[in-house]
Amino acid sequence: MLFQKPIPPQYADQSDEELRTLIRQAKAQFGQRLVILGHHYQQDDVVEFADFTGDSLRLSQLAAQQTEAEYIVFCGVHFMAETADMLTTDRQQVILPDLSAGCSMADMADIDQAEEAWAWLSSVTNAPITPITYVNSSAAVKALVGRADGACCTSSNARMVVEWALHGAQPDAPATEGHKILFLPDQHLGRNTAYALGWPLESMVVYDPALPAGGLTAEQVRAARVILWKGHCSVHQLFTPAQVDAIRALDEPYQVIVHPECAWEVCQKADQVGSTEYIIQQITAAEPGSHWAVGTEVHLIGRLAKTLTDRHVRSLATIQCLCTTMYRIDLRHLAWTLDSLLSGNVVNQISVDAETRRWSLVAVERMLALRPAQPISAK
Ligand code: SF4
Repeated sequence: MLFQKPIPPQYADQSDEELRTLIRQAKAQFGQRLVILGHHYQQDDVVEFADFTGDSLRLSQLAAQQTEAEYIVFCGVHFMAETADMLTTDRQQVILPDLSAGCSMADMADIDQAEEAWAWLSSVTNAPITPITYVNSSAAVKALVGRADGACCTSSNARMVVEWALHGAQPDAPATEGHKILFLPDQHLGRNTAYALGWPLESMVVYDPALPAGGLTAEQVRAARVILWKGHCSVHQLFTPAQVDAIRALDEPYQVIVHPECAWEVCQKADQVGSTEYIIQQITAAEPGSHWAVGTEVHLIGRLAKTLTDRHVRSLATIQCLCTTMYRIDLRHLAWTLDSLLSGNVVNQISVDAETRRWSLVAVERMLALRPAQPISAK
């Protein structure tokens, strides 16, 4: 995990309007040499300056298409900037305006722990295990997965990647006869996806990296088909089944739509489960007057409510489900980043070393070679 040193005090002394002027002027000076990417969960003040908004992989792919851009300022979190660096050329520099903008989920799969887990799991079973890592993981973990013949996935295409990994395996066949998967770092996305594909909860075990041997016996590993890493998103885990019950008790006919990083119990009670892009598409295409209770990050929900005013869009939770690490990126850090670039000083460049990049790209490209994205479930 990286830490951001305090930025020069003059940025704290400026008003938001002054900071906006600085950012606008810097953008105008750079022209096409600079691209600002804004993740869906960024605050509105930052999205205002984004040339593109989207989910992490889409933004990285867009970055790769901006061949004129020398500087790619990624307003997201650390693993996203790493992915953008992997997909862009050596001539392009990827910058994260606040180094402390990490992802708590990605940090739950440390590379040393992941290597230890992989070595142990591979030693206790003869059945093949395919590792799958959610893109919300470090480049080092992606590289481990690439080397071990596995693939990345996103929340949009997790179903397709899990299907690919378990191809030919049947949920009711003996575990020793077929493939297993190790899904990391989000246990919820792994569980929700495998369950939606017909794999019962009893076929899954949770590997806890904080415990010796993940807290599992060799017999448990041999009997399991799906090995879930004990990681989660600190935002999406705040949604609960009781919140769904409370929405159902209202007079208005709310559709409950949640992200697959939510717990299985929440997803089971929801009407629809899908990625941020899927959530946006569904609500955008919905009838005027329709009611939506959404289980994802609050800034995205707020933006949907603000732009789709003829629909009723609210958070599933009554508390603020906010990605605090994304929120670190603000006008001050963006202005400081661009000001520094103007004076020829590249701050907070994120770069992935050649060997890690090579193998993590194997995992990413294996995913991209599969079919197009689909939602986890639409009941
Ligand atoms: S919302 Fe969750 S998974 Fe996404 S960046 Fe924040 S902590 Fe990570």
